[in-house]
Amino acid sequence: GRSQRRIRLIRKQKKVDLEQVNLEIINPETINQKRVNLERINPKQVSWEQKTENSHLDSSNSNEQELLLSDILPFLSLPAQKILQLLQAQTAGDYSFVYLQRQVRGASRGVKELIRRGLVESYLEPPRLARPKLQKAVILINDLSENELTSRQQEILAVLRRRGGELWQTELLQACHTSTSTLKKLAQKGCILIEERERLRTEHSPQTGEDLTGEQVKSLTPAQSTALATIQELNGYAKVLLHGVTGSGKTEVYLQAIAPLLVEGKSALVLVPEIGLTPQLTDRFRARFGNKVFVYHSALSEGERYDTWRQMLTGEPSVVIGTRSAVFAPLPNLGLIILDEEHDSSFKQDSPAPTYHARVVAQWRAELEGFPLVLGSATPSLESLISAIGEQGDWKQGNNKTHYLSLPKRVYSRPLPPIKIVDMRLELQQGNRSIFSKPLKAALLNLQEKRQQGILFIHRRGHSTFVSCRSCGYVLDCPNCDVSLSYHHTEPGAQKLLRCHYCNYGCAHPPNCPECGSPYLKFFGSGTQKVAQELSRQFPELRFIRFDSDTTRRKGAHRQLLSKFANGEAELLIGTQMLTKGLDLPQVTLVGVVAADGLLHLSDYRASERAFQTLTQVAGRAGRGEDPGQVIIQTYNPDHQVIEAVQNHDYQSFTNTELEQRQVLNYPPYGRLILLRLSSPEEIQVQKTAQAIAAVLKSGSGFDVLGPAPANVLRVANRFRWQILIKFAPDALPQLPNWEEIRQLCPQIVSLTIDVDPLNM
Ligand code: ADP
Ligand code: ZN
Ligand code: ZN
Repeated sequence: GRSQRRIRLIRKQKKVDLEQVNLEIINPETINQKRVNLERINPKQVSWEQKTENSHLDSSNSNEQELLLSDILPFLSLPAQKILQLLQAQTAGDYSFVYLQRQVRGASRGVKELIRRGLVESYLEPPRLARPKLQKAVILINDLSENELTSRQQEILAVLRRRGGELWQTELLQACHTSTSTLKKLAQKGCILIEERERLRTEHSPQTGEDLTGEQVKSLTPAQSTALATIQELNGYAKVLLHGVTGSGKTEVYLQAIAPLLVEGKSALVLVPEIGLTPQLTDRFRARFGNKVFVYHSALSEGERYDTWRQMLTGEPSVVIGTRSAVFAPLPNLGLIILDEEHDSSFKQDSPAPTYHARVVAQWRAELEGFPLVLGSATPSLESLISAIGEQGDWKQGNNKTHYLSLPKRVYSRPLPPIKIVDMRLELQQGNRSIFSKPLKAALLNLQEKRQQGILFIHRRGHSTFVSCRSCGYVLDCPNCDVSLSYHHTEPGAQKLLRCHYCNYGCAHPPNCPECGSPYLKFFGSGTQKVAQELSRQFPELRFIRFDSDTTRRKGAHRQLLSKFANGEAELLIGTQMLTKGLDLPQVTLVGVVAADGLLHLSDYRASERAFQTLTQVAGRAGRGEDPGQVIIQTYNPDHQVIEAVQNHDYQSFTNTELEQRQVLNYPPYGRLILLRLSSPEEIQVQKTAQAIAAVLKSGSGFDVLGPAPANVLRVANRFRWQILIKFAPDALPQLPNWEEIRQLCPQIVSLTIDVDPLNM
């Protein structure tokens, strides 16, 4: 439901005021003829000549020189004429602009002309609200004895009986190869009732049913049992951190915690980071709870969203699986919220305002409504860890309202995969300039030969791919943002495209350098496309599937690509961040990380935490089934603390070091942050405003002010961005500045967003 531009006739002007219409080129003769015609049609109409003659005497009359709309047609341009005729022919005198564009050549010129003459107006129609979808249902009400019915009629009743006495008409017709007239006859006999009923667009039709045979209730491992028992003993609000290594069976714990709730008539909410992993997760939940499971995320159509919403309001016990905004789902009798992969930064909304973190909202909701909140992760965020183990770091005891539960082993005691770190500096010294190191090449060849399956992870952030001139070093930049353009491989033979990942600006790849004219433009970086090209070149027989934001844009694409992979149609799944989030693909034996370095050198204080989480999660995709897995991480920084901790699967030593550093610098989870984001099309204005605000802030006490500083990428979509960071101890809350006063320092042209507990800086 997007808002749509529409064009409509201005009603009061069925008759047209000539002066307002402002026809400049008037052929007096034609007008005279018009006048004659008009008089003939409508004798009361004052004659044109009289009017003009008298107008100098009585100026108040001068506006009454009226003609019918159709009379001025010949004076308009051809497109304007056609548009006017179309609008007049339609009762409401109203069409969407898109429709007019399809019908009339030069429509936008025509519309402009008509608007200028005050004949039509253009308006934005608000998005159309969704409505219940009604469909005919056939209900069996009276089983007549067989001899009163034809065999066709008997068949229909038999089908109805088999399907519980009720079926949608379309499906009944299909099943019996019959027509509506046969149904009508049955209705006349009083056998059936045909009635319009609401049909949920979210209804799960059995045809799309996945193979769910492998999904039965499992007998739990001891660690799982302890975790489940603890959750089930909770009464009212409590927070639980379920820290389970990858493949330890957290999802099984969720499933078994939810089952008894549904029996009690309560609902459960399961929040996940991305749609990418919902098809798999949804399937597992559907296998257990059938049509009680609903998904709720931004990729739903307006109608599906509306129906899910209505379904939730009924209060029927259900399981809603959704992304961050689902935390607001209107479930009247919620009994549990689960936040899976709770460390994931997509639970935070940065824009548009209001900014919020789904974990925080979930906690408020659980406290208000009095039920437990379960946070699950293999790599808990430091915030959740601290709240569970306390600032003293007592891993065993936990603290009063947060329970720390741990699943330290994989199910069936499967080992975590061994992780090999490859020093890319040595590879280069040994003359290997390829993006694949020797060990990774060998592993890929092995996959290809043995037809085993693997995952290749590529870290990418907007400007990690770019096109540069090899002669003069010129880099092709986005004209609206301070980032370089990325190269997009399109269909073979089609024009090569460059695109901006921030504002979506696109242009053709130029044949020569715009600066020096050299034809040697080279593509740098390791986006998925580059890796895909290299794979095809070096391993022509290896089949791979790209799984990234480019290939998963279409609805249902996630599911399709994953099931292709599961069916063995490729040996390798290559992609970005999306691959790290909870995929459970038991047949994967190899995980390769092309370059870990992009992750290690991000410019905010959370870089290490994020790098550790991402690498641990991606490594955790290997060896989840019966065949053991292996992980290969390529890097130029093999001695980095994060790399070492990942290699040793050592969450605890990583967090100990990281927490120490955070404490020294008073960063979260010890200190707290507020980020002021300023942006404006006026570069000087935004900078001045940022400086003015920072000066006022710095006069306060009880908190530190960092900045003002230009944002990581200064200009995005032609807006210049500056930021100011406020750092304070949790007990300094009362000393914080008066935000209304701060806002008043902002001129109209500068916009200010206040982001409390910012994640993405
Ligand atoms: P996690 O969410 O912790 O990464 P999953 O819940 O996806 O782990 O479990 C990993 C795999 O182990 C899944 O295929 C799941 O079906 C299986 N599994 C989980 N618990 C058990 C159990 N108690 N016994 C046998 N298999 C299990
Ligand atoms: Zn050049
Ligand atoms: Zn841009």
